[in-house]
Amino acid sequence: MSKSKELFSEAKKYIPGGVNSPARAFKAVENDPLFIEQGKGAFIYDVDGKKYIDYVGSWGPMILGHNHPAVVEALQQQLMKGSSFGAPTKLETILAEMVVEGVSSVDKVRMVNSGTEATMSALRLARGYTGRTKIIKMEGCYHGHGDSLLVEAGSGITTLGIAGSAGVPAKMAEETIVVPYNDISALEEVFKEYSQDVAAVILEPVTGNMGVVAPKNGYLESLREITKKYGTLLIFDEVMTGFRLAYGGAQELYQVEPDLTTFGKIIGGGLPVGAYGGKREIMNYIAPEGPVYQAGTLSGNPLAMTAGISTLKLLKEEGVYNTLEEKGKLLEAGIQENIRKVDIPVVFSRIGSMFTLFFNGSDVTDYQSAKGSNTKAFSIYFNKMLEEGIYLPPSQFEANFISLTHSKDEIEATVEANYKALLEVKEKAKL
Ligand SMILES: *Cc1c(COP(=O)(O)O)cnc(C)c1O
Repeated sequence: MSKSKELFSEAKKYIPGGVNSPARAFKAVENDPLFIEQGKGAFIYDVDGKKYIDYVGSWGPMILGHNHPAVVEALQQQLMKGSSFGAPTKLETILAEMVVEGVSSVDKVRMVNSGTEATMSALRLARGYTGRTKIIKMEGCYHGHGDSLLVEAGSGITTLGIAGSAGVPAKMAEETIVVPYNDISALEEVFKEYSQDVAAVILEPVTGNMGVVAPKNGYLESLREITKKYGTLLIFDEVMTGFRLAYGGAQELYQVEPDLTTFGKIIGGGLPVGAYGGKREIMNYIAPEGPVYQAGTLSGNPLAMTAGISTLKLLKEEGVYNTLEEKGKLLEAGIQENIRKVDIPVVFSRIGSMFTLFFNGSDVTDYQSAKGSNTKAFSIYFNKMLEEGIYLPPSQFEANFISLTHSKDEIEATVEANYKALLEVKEKAKL
């Protein structure tokens, strides 16, 4: 038995399902998770000593690659001074200022400890600010596991094949209205009925949690217009896309400004962080300045701030996002060529350094079309890639991430493995 398998059976005795987040289980791909010993650049090493090219990147944060020397050095220095005080430090202001300067729609920002906390808090703020209760979300978008948001919530739930979650009161779920992503007329219909009741529309401007799906031309602009018309706040959940698709996130890429934005993943540089920010007049509703309460013992933690600051500093350098785009292009060209050669129905969807290979014969533009993907084929693909030393997210409905440390060599090795894996899928899944 491998060490990973041994550790997994041990973990299952003490931890539900053996994992601290369901996305880490390899259930959908009929395998057991690898236990990881260490990471370096584009690589991770499991406890059995096998080396993998990593496209999970801790589910998004590791845009600089694992164990970046500058981040490690900054963390070591901060650690010598102490790890938490529960009192203000200048680090919080430095990171907040970096976010405000980097993201044009954000005047003020509040740090929290996870993306889930960021979206929960942003919704409470939207409800407090507007005095309204209903929320509109898009089918297949994931915004963390807050009660209001655990409705039609994408990858984790789709992967496990459950509709939503037990334990979410129907009363709570009723306040959430779900419409398809990329569908403006469905949204207009809802607004006709609930014009005065909707506190916020929340979405992933580019989705990652049903796999990577881009907004149609004009979709985000229309969302902006409609929400403005009805006095509803527009929240971009950029926990995944913030500092990933551009320094200023998807809103910079598409030039659409939301009222509130949620962050996480990259701004914590691999430590647990989330944040939400937006227009001054809205953010001033938060306690102690305003009546909307939100707090956190470890919020703005000095180590987490340090990792975030040193990560953003490096991302701010000239040409970073062009470099990521070049890497993405190189990978895409190789994989598209493989798809042609193998002649297999696969859609390769990529924006910058985020991509998903959908085993799907038709375009993927929303959750319904994403769900039409062949998960059996994905499972074969995933396991063959793993065997070839490529570590992918263990679900069809996830985003893969390229880091700045994925060099031409790693990308070429990935393309080579992809060819073998596509052949195997064609043969075994009879595509
Ligand atoms: C990961 C993610 C979250 C949740 O963040 P956690 O830190 O896991 O709580 C929320 N929204 C989006 C878009 C995400 O990708």
